[in-house]
Amino acid sequence: MSERKYTPSQKLIGMQVVDSKGAIVGNVKDLAVSIGGKEVLLIVGTRAGGEIDIHWGDVNSIEDVILLSKPGDMIGEKPSPPLPQTITCGSCGATLPAHAKFCAKCGSKVR
Ligand SMILES: [Zn+2]
Repeated sequence: MSERKYTPSQKLIGMQVVDSKGAIVGNVKDLAVSIGGKEVLLIVGTRAGGEIDIHWGDVNSIEDVILLSKPGDMIGEKPSPPLPQTITCGSCGATLPAHAKFCAKCGSKVR
């Protein structure tokens, strides 16, 4: 399924979007392309009347419907990358809160 075919946007708009569990997410309302065209978003109107953006990378295949590679609760909202909550003391290896300036264990300056 790694083959990328060109699909006219007119064909996509109005198509039903189905998640990896087979649940209907909604219908494509529009396409958005980032400056430079590196990222394409499907703007999908949900049945609840909302609107979610689905990254092109989450599209598994396009048949009669647009099949996503993720379940509906995993799309539309990108979980922010986990911020490091802790840091490691360079001297003793103790795990410290990310805002720590000094190691609580050995007292050496962190970073
Ligand atoms: Zn330490």
